[in-house]
Amino acid sequence: MKSYKYVIIGGGTTSGYAAEEFVEQGIGEGDLCIVSAESILPMNRPPLSKGYLKDSHEDDEILINDQNFYDKNGIEVKLETCARSVDLGRNEVDLDTGERIKFGKLLIATGSSLNHLGVDGGNLQNVFYLRNINHSDKIREQAKQSKNAVVVGGGYIGTETAAGLTELGVKVSMVVPEDHLLAKFTEGEVADFFKNLYKHQGIELIFNDKAVSFRGNGKVEEVELESGKRLPADMVVVGAGVKPNVKLFTGTALRINEAIQVNEYCETGVENVYAAGDVVEFPDQIFNKKRHVEHWEHAFEQGKHAAKVMTGKREPYVFVPFFFSDVFDLSYEYFGDQEGADFSATRGNVSDGNFSQWWFKDKICIAAFVMSSRPDEEGEKARTWIKEKVHIDQDRIDDESVSLKSLELQSQHHRNDPNH
Ligand SMILES: Cc1cc2nc3c(=O)[nH]c(=O)nc-3n(C[C@H](O)[C@H](O)[C@H](O)COP(=O)(O)OP(=O)(O)OC[C@H]3O[C@@H](n4cnc5c(N)ncnc54)[C@H](O)[C@@H]3O)c2cc1C
Repeated sequence: MKSYKYVIIGGGTTSGYAAEEFVEQGIGEGDLCIVSAESILPMNRPPLSKGYLKDSHEDDEILINDQNFYDKNGIEVKLETCARSVDLGRNEVDLDTGERIKFGKLLIATGSSLNHLGVDGGNLQNVFYLRNINHSDKIREQAKQSKNAVVVGGGYIGTETAAGLTELGVKVSMVVPEDHLLAKFTEGEVADFFKNLYKHQGIELIFNDKAVSFRGNGKVEEVELESGKRLPADMVVVGAGVKPNVKLFTGTALRINEAIQVNEYCETGVENVYAAGDVVEFPDQIFNKKRHVEHWEHAFEQGKHAAKVMTGKREPYVFVPFFFSDVFDLSYEYFGDQEGADFSATRGNVSDGNFSQWWFKDKICIAAFVMSSRPDEEGEKARTWIKEKVHIDQDRIDDESVSLKSLELQSQHHRNDPNH
C-alpha cells in the first residue's frame, strides 16, 4: 500500500491553495497526494459563472497551478478518482480505482455539492446546474443555440448566470423565491438598484415564486411556476445553493452537523485529521460564533492555513467573512456579517451604482457592501474595522465630505486595554 505524509481528499480551491502552501512550507518529493474526483487540476471556480461562462478563452485564472508545479514539487494528483471510504483509525483511504492509500495526516477538502430542486422534469435535457467546468462549457454551448432561458434563483449564481446569458444574447427570465435579488445581503434602495439594473438589461424578474415543474419532450420547453405562470424555455439554469459534501464521513468519528466541525486550527478532533473550505463549520474568532462559509477567499485562506498547521505552524484561523461577485460591468465585495445590526447607512449614490453600504452594531462596523467603483480605502477600512472592532462615528458615514479615517473613534481592543 502506498503511503504519503499528507493526503488531501478533494481537488478544488481549498486543495489547490493548501498544496501551494505545503510547498511553501518545504515538503519533500512524494510527501503529498491529492485525490480528486474532478477531471481538471485544482481550480478557481468564480470564472465559471463569469468570464469563462461567456468565453472559454477567458481561462487564465482558472487553474491554481499547472501540471508543471505538481511535477516539479513531487506532488501526486490522482484525477477522476473518488475516495470511496476512509478508515480514520488506520489512516487509510479506499479509492474507487481499487487502490488503498495510507496517510500520516489527512486534509478533508471535499467542498460542497449542489442542491437539486427535485421537481418534475428535472432530468430533461438542457436543465443545468453549475458547479464545475463541464457545466459551464455545456451552459455556454447551449446558450449559443437558445432564445429563451429561465434562471431559477436570485443568489450570486443566479444573478451572475442571468447576466452572462443575457450578454450571450439569450432572453432571460429569473424566478426568485424572495421579493428581491441577492436577498441574503441586499435590502431597501440597494435591492431596488439591482432590480432596476436587471430590468434595464431586459431580464424579466419574477419574485415570490418558484419553479414547480419543467416540461418538454426530451428537452425542456417550458417552466411551470407555483403561481401557475408558464415560461417558455429552451434552457434552464438552477442556482439553488449547495450543501457541505460530508457523505463520505458519515459513521466516522468526525463531528458532523451538516458541515464537519473543526476548531480554530482546522483540527477535527480526530488525531491527524484536518478539514477546511466549504465543507467545514469553524469557530469565528471575530464574531464569536460558529461559521460556515461557501466562498472563494475562505477556501483560499483556510486551505493555506490548514497546510501551515499540518506542517507545524499551529495558529488560530482569523477570517473576516468575504465574498465578491461580478455582474454585467459591475463588481462588488461584501465583508463581514450584517446579522444583528442595529444601524445601517449608505455612502455615495445608490441610484447610479456608485455606493457602499455599512452595517453597525453598538457603533461597531460588522459588515459592508462595497461597489468596485468606490475608493480602495473603503474595502480596506471595512476589513480592518470589522477585524479590529473599531468604534465608529456611524452617524456621519453617509457624508462623503468626511474621511473614513476621521470616523474612527477607538477599537474595542483598545477600550478593553487599561494601557490605552
Ligand atoms: C460557478 C461558481 C462561481 C463562484 N463564484 C464565486 C465568487 O464570485 N465569489 C466567491 O467568493 N465564491 C465563489 N464561488 C464559491 C467558491 O468557488 C467555493 O467556495 C470554493 O470553490 C470552495 O472550495 P472547496 O475546495 O472547499 O470546494 P470545491 O472547490 O467544491 O472542491 C471540492 C472538491 O472535492 C472533490 N471531492 C468531493 N468528494 C470527493 C471524494 N469523495 N473523492 C475525491 N474528490 C472529492 C470535488 O470533486 C471537488 O473537486 C463560486 C462557486 C461556483 C461553483
